[in-house]
Amino acid sequence: MSKLKIAVQKSGRLSEKSLQLLSDCGIRLSNGERRLKATSTNFPVEILFLRDDDIPQYVEEGVADAGILGQNEVWEKDKKVTQVKQLGFAGCRLSLAVPKDVVYTGAAYFNNKKVATSYPVILQKFFNENNINASIETISGSVEIAPAIGLADGIFDIVSTGSTLQINGLKEVEQVIKSEAVLISNTNLSAEKQEILDKLLFRIQSVKNAAENKYILLNAPNEAIPQISSILPGMKSPTVLPLAEPGWSSIHSVVREDAFWDIIDQLKALGAEGILVTNVEKMIL
Ligand code: ATP
Ligand code: MG
Repeated sequence: MSKLKIAVQKSGRLSEKSLQLLSDCGIRLSNGERRLKATSTNFPVEILFLRDDDIPQYVEEGVADAGILGQNEVWEKDKKVTQVKQLGFAGCRLSLAVPKDVVYTGAAYFNNKKVATSYPVILQKFFNENNINASIETISGSVEIAPAIGLADGIFDIVSTGSTLQINGLKEVEQVIKSEAVLISNTNLSAEKQEILDKLLFRIQSVKNAAENKYILLNAPNEAIPQISSILPGMKSPTVLPLAEPGWSSIHSVVREDAFWDIIDQLKALGAEGILVTNVEKMIL
């Protein structure tokens, strides 16, 4: 039986989370992450450890069947691959920044300026779309020091908190794109490999659902059950169990993490007590 070859970053910001995701999907790997390859003992996949820059090309060529990497790298390399799923980690943005004492009035500032970046393709596209005539200086690392050493007037780079910019006396002036980790695949997978990918996707979705939801248990007076049920729809409807104390029930349900605090406030207002909340490990819808 064939195996789905999945490329992940060998060492860097994505490595640990990529392997954690596979592990959360129940995929056990036989040998350490430092090697070139690892095989799973309980799922038909083989993991290839590569530089993230090389993953789009390997997936396009079919050396790897799928890969986990930042969307920024997928867009920059512009290879023919399928974006299968956004994975919800390694969120960042790619932004233009200039020295902080520059009076910035808009993107036209960059006309006839020089911008240092490791993402020339994405940046050129932005300049084209905005009719800006700037020159791009492609460098592979430490982009943030370029203005200070006189290499460029501004930079285009990954920003997450903005602290690197600040340390280097720069300010973010244009947010060009947002990025997060994604799963990509070869555009022409065999039926057998597609089936393995679909199984993996199902597991990833269950892990993501679980991460986005909380399991909630609470006690409530019986007369509040209809209203509580309407704010706690759960997966089908909440479980309601009688408590030993007459007139009271225990209600169990699942709530979305992002709506969580609002819901807690509403439940308290309806007389809920003894509210317990726990994480969900897997959630199959
Ligand atoms: P490689 O040696 O594999 O080429 P790299 O140096 O290009 O690694 P990393 O710095 O490890 O890459 O970043 C990998 C990816 O993680 C980036 O392409 C981006 O999608 C994401 N990323 C980078 N920096 C941040 C950040 N500060 N916050 C969140 N995500 C980030
Ligand atoms: Mg890289």
